[in-house]
Amino acid sequence: MTQTTAGQTDLDVVILGGGMAGLSLACAIAQDECSHQDLKETSRRSPQRTLVIEPRSVYRQDKTWCYWQQDPTPFDEAITHRWQRWTVSHGGQTQLCSSAQTPYVRVDSGQFYRIAQQILSASRSVTLSLGEQAESLEADSRGVFVNSTAGDLRAGLAIDTRPTPIPEGVLLQHFMGWEIQTDHDVFDPTTVTLMDFAPASKDIHFYYVLPFDRRRALVETTHFSMTRLDEETYTRELKNYLKARYGLDHWRISRTEQGVIPMPRQAPNLKRRAHQRIIPMGLHADTTKPSTGYCYPHAQDQARRQAQALSSGASGAAASARSDLGRWFDAVFIGFLEQYPEQAGATFLRLFQQVPSDVLIRFLTDKARFGDYLRVMLALPKITFIKQALRHVSGA
Ligand SMILES: Cc1cc2nc3c(=O)[nH]c(=O)nc-3n(C[C@H](O)[C@H](O)[C@H](O)COP(=O)(O)OP(=O)(O)OC[C@H]3O[C@@H](n4cnc5c(N)ncnc54)[C@H](O)[C@@H]3O)c2cc1C
Repeated sequence: MTQTTAGQTDLDVVILGGGMAGLSLACAIAQDECSHQDLKETSRRSPQRTLVIEPRSVYRQDKTWCYWQQDPTPFDEAITHRWQRWTVSHGGQTQLCSSAQTPYVRVDSGQFYRIAQQILSASRSVTLSLGEQAESLEADSRGVFVNSTAGDLRAGLAIDTRPTPIPEGVLLQHFMGWEIQTDHDVFDPTTVTLMDFAPASKDIHFYYVLPFDRRRALVETTHFSMTRLDEETYTRELKNYLKARYGLDHWRISRTEQGVIPMPRQAPNLKRRAHQRIIPMGLHADTTKPSTGYCYPHAQDQARRQAQALSSGASGAAASARSDLGRWFDAVFIGFLEQYPEQAGATFLRLFQQVPSDVLIRFLTDKARFGDYLRVMLALPKITFIKQALRHVSGA
């Protein structure tokens, strides 16, 4: 960082928000700097002077991030559990799926923040500034200007991961979960309940169970709808489910988590961002895959590619989280969920029954090959999806 006489700090990159997406990118930039140190003097580019602005002054474990792990990340030490089996249930049927090569993993956010801070404290070019927040962000053709509690900052590029309000009329994935402890053996620690659809629900509603051991699990009630529910409703749903599925009347809650993830049909598109010098990333940008709500694995890929773009000198280039084809499939699938919520449970069950696990995982994680798309399409209700596909012909 360079301090000017006017008290302004000059940077290459400013990252607004040191949450999951901001820290993932900051660490990718820091690690890129290390790999460049290994190169010969002549081919070395100067490191990206980067500042991360984060309002929190201390990180605590606040979430659980799960995903199918295909590639290693710098945060793999924060993975506490790996499962190779998962189920989807609807209408009295349960499909058990498994993958030996692509486990479903759980990242402890507290460990993630610790590792990220360790990587950044060893970096010469990336600084994490805690307890500070951005108050305004403006851009011109030469760069960005941030007014922050840490002072005035000038940078070539801003990565903006701050949360933004979700517009009306967007499908939401909203959920509440309890990490519970029971006094006798209840859970099967080998198998995740990915989606256990609630019978006779007004919207798309399912339960999700991550079993940590026989007596400890995260149990979540999840809805896809445009209206959030109050805490009392989520609580009632969780109590009824724990009784109906596991016969439980008593448990101890060690942690509660709640969230709202936008599932927009017209997902944010980095190619059409408002300003070239401001790249939105994270939950409210294109990083989240809107048809699944997963964000963590896409943030890891995007961070790696964005750091590479920065170090190769393409400073204004934005690494989109997914291809146009992936965006189009998401739009078609979300259009289907919005229009035919009553078919969602049966459709998800059919997908998990008919598509081999590794193919479906590649599809759900934006790594689908051409043949994977065909296999997924064959398992979907064809007429309905063709109608949706035609509605979204120009939606990519
Ligand atoms: C409870 C929960 C569980 C989830 N589980 C999963 C999961 O299992 N798998 C998955 O893939 N995804 C999951 N997600 C979705 C997603 O991975 C997380 O929301 C993730 O934290 C998003 O990262 P982010 O950086 O966009 O947002 P955050 O991690 O929330 O970071 C945004 C940061 O911006 C900071 N900020 C706010 N205002 C300012 C300001 N003015 N200036 C500077 N900084 C500011 C905030 O303090 C925060 O640190 C989950 C989400 C929630 C809420």
